[in-house]
Amino acid sequence: MIINGRNYPDVKRNILMNPGPATTTDTVKYAQVIPDICPREKEFCDIMHQMSLDLVKIVHGDPEKFVGVLFCGSGTMNIDVTVSSLVPAGKKILILNNGSYSARAVEVARAYHVDHIDLLLPIDRPIDVAKAEEALSADPDIAVVYCCMHETGTGVLNPIREIGAAAHAHGCTMISDTTSAYAMIPIDIEKDNQDFIMASAQKGLQSMTGLSFIVGRESIIDASADYPVRSYYTNLYMQHSFIREHGEMRFTPPVQTIYATKQAILEYFAEGEQAKWERHQSVWAALYDGLEKLGFRMAIKKEYQSRLVISVLCPDDPAFDFGAMHDYLYKYGYTIYSGKVAGVPMFRMCALGALTAADIPGVFDCIRDYMKEAGMAIPCQYN
Ligand SMILES: *Cc1c(COP(=O)(O)O)cnc(C)c1O
Repeated sequence: MIINGRNYPDVKRNILMNPGPATTTDTVKYAQVIPDICPREKEFCDIMHQMSLDLVKIVHGDPEKFVGVLFCGSGTMNIDVTVSSLVPAGKKILILNNGSYSARAVEVARAYHVDHIDLLLPIDRPIDVAKAEEALSADPDIAVVYCCMHETGTGVLNPIREIGAAAHAHGCTMISDTTSAYAMIPIDIEKDNQDFIMASAQKGLQSMTGLSFIVGRESIIDASADYPVRSYYTNLYMQHSFIREHGEMRFTPPVQTIYATKQAILEYFAEGEQAKWERHQSVWAALYDGLEKLGFRMAIKKEYQSRLVISVLCPDDPAFDFGAMHDYLYKYGYTIYSGKVAGVPMFRMCALGALTAADIPGVFDCIRDYMKEAGMAIPCQYN
């Protein structure tokens, strides 16, 4: 293929339906092939600076109030950063826990001895905002509210705008893990009542792994200068103030991933927020339809779903073997993802990445072939 007048070999296209890293375009893949560069050069710092601004723009943040702060690491880095950095001494973080990613924030709070409330909520439905309000009214020491916008483990979408409004009504900082929603489901950071959101480059942006980022209110980051430093590497104030002063990350950035992400952001803006969200939803609808036609059952009610991740209950047919189905599909370039929710065996099919609805019929031809070869009943059997 020809990119910028140069000829590059074609790369096999895999259809990833795992919850990230996602399928990327060839132009994003090849954007990583660049002359070697020291990341302390101004040329590279300028790319990072522009990227920080673009990451704020994607969620319609006012650049006078919000900043994008880059980190080298996978998405969990952001959970570590926000939970360890944004809770003042003597105050608490309320974690609205309705899935494995909000549960991860609880584990981070425990690891750093951050005073927290682990508000356990049902995982098969969105967070009940009244429960959050109850918890907030009961404890004036809560200074921060945390939730996960899209629980990737189940595909449940949480009402971050309403949760953020409740947090702000109680004078709290609002943090949402938007890793599996950012650059897919439109977010308006201020209208959605968020102070901090986060993501990593390999999900909604359709870039490579290794770059994570937080978009947040600079005034709160500055106020956190006096908060306990619970982690040296992942302290938000230390990272942001260093970048602000020197234009560089404190430590080595993921150079090639940043070039890929620069290209991915270009492609994001070229496609457009609404068109991209519609594309993901059309992939989700094609997946949903294909699954239903074969008689698969979903774990989460349709109206609770993010429209990005489908949790499918494993059929009770003794001929069904998820591992065998995965391997069968994998041979043809289709990747599906195993999962277990509350001990119930499931698998996931996700609509992330550079996919279109036209990619999906081939997936179901392949699934049907597997089912026939395995001797499964069609439609699927459930007890
Ligand atoms: C993918 C994801 C993360 C980050 O996971 P890593 O494996 O560290 O990249 C965090 N939160 C959510 C909601 C996610 O979907």
